[in-house]
Amino acid sequence: MKALIRYGKGEKDVGLDDVPEPRPEPHEVKIEVRAAGVCGTDIQGHPGVRPPVVLGHELAGVVVELGDECVDRRVGERVTAETTKSTCGRCRYCRRGPVSLCVDRRGMASTADGCFARYVCLPESSTHLLPDGVSFEAGALTEPLACATHAVYEQGDVLAEELAVVIGPGPLGLLIARCCLVLGADVIVAGTADDADRLRLARSLGVDHTTVVDSDSLAELVDSISDGCGADVVFECAGVEPAVRTGLACLRKRGRFIQAGILHRDVSLDFDDIFFNRELSLVGSHTSNPGSWEIALGLLSAGEVDLEPLVTESLSLDRWEQAFELMRTRRAVKVVLTP
Ligand SMILES: [Zn+2]
Ligand SMILES: [Zn+2]
Repeated sequence: MKALIRYGKGEKDVGLDDVPEPRPEPHEVKIEVRAAGVCGTDIQGHPGVRPPVVLGHELAGVVVELGDECVDRRVGERVTAETTKSTCGRCRYCRRGPVSLCVDRRGMASTADGCFARYVCLPESSTHLLPDGVSFEAGALTEPLACATHAVYEQGDVLAEELAVVIGPGPLGLLIARCCLVLGADVIVAGTADDADRLRLARSLGVDHTTVVDSDSLAELVDSISDGCGADVVFECAGVEPAVRTGLACLRKRGRFIQAGILHRDVSLDFDDIFFNRELSLVGSHTSNPGSWEIALGLLSAGEVDLEPLVTESLSLDRWEQAFELMRTRRAVKVVLTP
């Protein structure tokens, strides 16, 4: 079968090739991939990737074969799946959670083959039924939604009536903003001049305040909404140093800063201002875990989050270069490949 493979760590080390069709282990199901979302980490690579590996970790599809030990899934079911291929089952995180931090976790598209191919085999325990009425294209975005619920519900502990600032209106930032709105927070989404379409989409998702950081002052907007107090929580989803600085600057005392973007570089910060003057909390948010998937699927089933508007393009697997280019240039919010 054709698969999109990362051969090395460089951004250009990607290409289509023929690989053998995977066969399910006894505890695995074989999924025919109907839609797979393109993520920034597919394009840029990320620190944990071990090539060669099939890319793609956001999927929806149909179960076509069951391993001998599977008990919950049936052939023909519409599913989406967590990215976990295997965990060690023995470490502190496997025993006491969260398993996403397992010291020997293998995940799709980093240390195990991903879903930019016709078929992928995953543990039955990683799969979830796609809620009725959610298309394959939208369902492929359950994974980024679970990353957003992890950031908002588990790492950010966002409360009703808090002021949340989301910097970087990519798919993750937009989903984080939507989750904050569901919780009753007041939300500002900040982007650059290139993000005009994405900021418009943020407003259509219910966000009241959007701002362009190139020309307008985020700090002034935060001050005007919070009576000069500052934001309660900031989500940095752009993965750039100026966003880190701007985000930290607009937090109130005891505010929470959630780093959800990947910077790929060192940043130097004023620790005395952060920890002594203002008692800020700096928290990381990376990937998702079974708890955040449960929340994500609940939001989808209840119709609180609609993933459809985020899918701006759907392309066949052999048009992957066009898909990557649309994402890289931010002309699309989320491109889905249909292997
Ligand atoms: Zn991703
Ligand atoms: Zn483990």
